[in-house]
Amino acid sequence: MGRFYPKFSEEFSRLLADVSGRAVAVIGHSRPDGDCIGSQLAMHWYLSSLGKRVVVYDSDTLPDKFRFLADSGVLTAERPVGRFGALFVLDCSNPSRLGWEKMGDMSSVVVNIDHHRDNVLFGTLNIVKKNGAATAELIYEYFTHKKLAYPPHVAEALYAAIMTDTGVFRFSNTNGGILRMCADLCDRGADPARIYERVYASFSSSGLLLQSRIWSTLAFYHDGAVCCMEMPYGLIKELGATYGDSEGMADLTIMGADVEVGVLIKYDEKQTHFSLRSNGRVDVGKIAQSVEGGGGHSSAAGCTMTLPFVEAKPKMLAIIEKAL
Ligand code: 5GP
Ligand code: MN
Repeated sequence: MGRFYPKFSEEFSRLLADVSGRAVAVIGHSRPDGDCIGSQLAMHWYLSSLGKRVVVYDSDTLPDKFRFLADSGVLTAERPVGRFGALFVLDCSNPSRLGWEKMGDMSSVVVNIDHHRDNVLFGTLNIVKKNGAATAELIYEYFTHKKLAYPPHVAEALYAAIMTDTGVFRFSNTNGGILRMCADLCDRGADPARIYERVYASFSSSGLLLQSRIWSTLAFYHDGAVCCMEMPYGLIKELGATYGDSEGMADLTIMGADVEVGVLIKYDEKQTHFSLRSNGRVDVGKIAQSVEGGGGHSSAAGCTMTLPFVEAKPKMLAIIEKAL
């Protein structure tokens, strides 16, 4: 535990001292997920505890299921104005995933903290563990290295982040170190049953109806090696559901014993997003990277084609076929 962070610690401390007295911003990727949000809240607590004024921003609003996290109200989808002493950009492999441009207008100091192997190292300080399970893992390591006594709600935010990015400890990024971290977070006050229940078992009826409609699109291709599900974005509004209700559905596309690649396709008239999953043999990160702006991990990745669904889907199936 705590083997990764020490090499950054000095530089990080120096940077924090340099920005003393100036407001800082903690920023995550568009459509923020549990790792992004939990990491942002933990950093918000830490930087606030140092007496800094902290703005916490994502270009999309917080999914309802994460509202139970203490201080989640600090997250705003309103673009902060003015300049900051530093930007902490969390869980974001590439500035294009922020959902907005001109990060440089906000600060000349950018701390990039992330665990995506395709991170383009865009920060002035890059704290990037390319095989890490979650961004929260790096923040946990930093807190541990600093011997910080953080409150239970911060342990809860970090646990929620790691729980979601490991698919509740069942993806291949789960290992002894991760489980020991989470055991420690429990000892510090995180309640696993409560967090699981709030994130994964608190759907609204419209959210569950949305999921049933996505399930009903299930289809197999390439001799059953590829499993697809589909969701037009318009369906969310039609059913009164939220975007967050569809989160996690992509992971269900690889539940078949013979499935190598799973795809959840989300689309509107203009663009088609692919959430790609692999059962281990095929590197879906490479598939996603072959589309402009796409990327991710070898077992979970994503990309967007600026094409309508009917053109984009066969294109993606052809790309996947080559990789099988
Ligand atoms: P999801 O399918 O759950 O949205 O994303 C799975 C993984 O792929 C995440 O680690 C996410 O960061 C990455 N990912 C998803 N969509 C994109 C994309 O359009 N571009 C890049 N570079 N990565 C993506
Ligand atoms: Mn993450």
